Amino acid sequence: MAKILLINPIIREEDKPKHIPYGLSLMAAIAMEKGHEVQFYDANAWRLGYDVIEEVATADDWDVIGIGGLTTAYSSIKKIVGICKKVSPKSFIIAGGGFITSMPLDIMNWLKEIDLGVIGEAFLTWPEILEKIDRKDFDFSECLGVCYRDEEGNPVLTDVRPNIADLDILPYPAWDLLPMEIYFENSQLLYSESAYLAKRRIDVNGSLGCSLVCKYCWHLGIIGDMTVEKNENGVKDVRFSYGRNIRYHSPRYIVDMVKTLVEKYNIDFVSFIDENMMTMDAASGRKWLFELCDLWIAEGLQPTSRRDGVPDSENKGGVFWGGTSHATLHTEEVLKAMFKAGCSHLVYGIESFDPTILKNLGKGSTQKNNLEAVPKCLSTGIIPLPNIIIGFPEESFDSIRTTIECMIKIGMYSRPHFATPYPGSEWYYTYKNAILEQYNGDLEAYIEDLGDASKITAVISHNFSPVELLGLQEIVAKRDLRLLEHTIAYYESIGRVKMAPENPYVLPNATFNIIKKKVTTPISEVVSI
Ligand code: SF4
Repeated sequence: MAKILLINPIIREEDKPKHIPYGLSLMAAIAMEKGHEVQFYDANAWRLGYDVIEEVATADDWDVIGIGGLTTAYSSIKKIVGICKKVSPKSFIIAGGGFITSMPLDIMNWLKEIDLGVIGEAFLTWPEILEKIDRKDFDFSECLGVCYRDEEGNPVLTDVRPNIADLDILPYPAWDLLPMEIYFENSQLLYSESAYLAKRRIDVNGSLGCSLVCKYCWHLGIIGDMTVEKNENGVKDVRFSYGRNIRYHSPRYIVDMVKTLVEKYNIDFVSFIDENMMTMDAASGRKWLFELCDLWIAEGLQPTSRRDGVPDSENKGGVFWGGTSHATLHTEEVLKAMFKAGCSHLVYGIESFDPTILKNLGKGSTQKNNLEAVPKCLSTGIIPLPNIIIGFPEESFDSIRTTIECMIKIGMYSRPHFATPYPGSEWYYTYKNAILEQYNGDLEAYIEDLGDASKITAVISHNFSPVELLGLQEIVAKRDLRLLEHTIAYYESIGRVKMAPENPYVLPNATFNIIKKKVTTPISEVVSI
């Protein structure tokens, strides 16, 4: 059996480790179920510096060193694979997750230390790879869902791996391999009373993907949106589309997992890390969340405060939870059921209140939906956490004004994020040339920049420069219409009444990597892992 070291890279160094490495710990569990020996080094939780990586990588003769994460972890992954290859050259280095799926050829060309990339959903690919390595068979040309190296070391993609149909065949993440107490120490979230009072919070993922097509959102093959085809140079590459394989765990699986977590770790709060719980509920014909809430209560997980109608600070047991919602797809009935079961807060991607921006975004919500969403959620007792973005391609002073006016109207504050073309999103491919232009042709420098969420990176606003967006961020955060009008008046006084409509730094381009229609990855017939 293979001796495996899995390393969780450091994510957002400016932030404390608050979220367990869900995907990687699931991979650990799958490997262990197959009988492999797995050790886990959670560099993100421990934050002990890169010297320790050297010690960990040489602590044993690892057959496989596995690493994975989102693009935001790229810088850390780059350092870690460099160290591992240097000190443990015989270990086979496998990388997976969003960072490599969104741009496999680029990543394999930049990080020569990676021997094999797992592209898209890894639940079936990962055990198949380990079985081959166990047999000393390193020919991956017939293995679906990987990027291997040919004899010259060039990356070669194989065809796409079908998604599994039933998420309930997955084991629970290998929590015991993680330094759980570090995560519990960082349980509090300033989102709601119960989230702030949480002492032992943990992440749970109830579903994969979302049915919507927001242009800034990346899905990366885990919801059936990815194909692998030959590009214009005759080389196989990933293509993303509006294809969807909607899958969610059964309420029974989720509730049993939470009960296990209560028994093992005495948890009192669950952060659902699903991309969008409300789209899953809609896909289920409005059954999923009601059934989940009913079962949550029936199995004794409901916080006592919600049962007894006293303030949440008087909770004497039970498990609160929070997740993600959608302004158009939530209903008062489902929100009330969620509150009763213990839901404390929901994140809403409001993004903007401007009708043109919303129409182009792919989110399916309107200004009216957004205006109603926040008070509607609040009225059910659940705290809404609305996100705002500025710097959309069509952003203008008018759209900024509209957004601020609507925020004032519903009494909402939000420090906006900047519209960012993350790899794997439609924006990324549409604005790839513009990104290269802004990073002097150095795409990797852009990817490394994405590790800091507070930073302004590649701008895709056709109208505003980075410095202007930084100013507008302050104005929106403070809802300062006076400052906005003064800025507009200043621009008018210098003759910049209308912004540059064809800013050469943000010209969109047609691209091979995104197909703007539904092309759905097949579903696998496998019934167990
Ligand atoms: S609603 Fe959220 S999860 Fe769904 S596509 Fe849009 S941003 Fe992504």
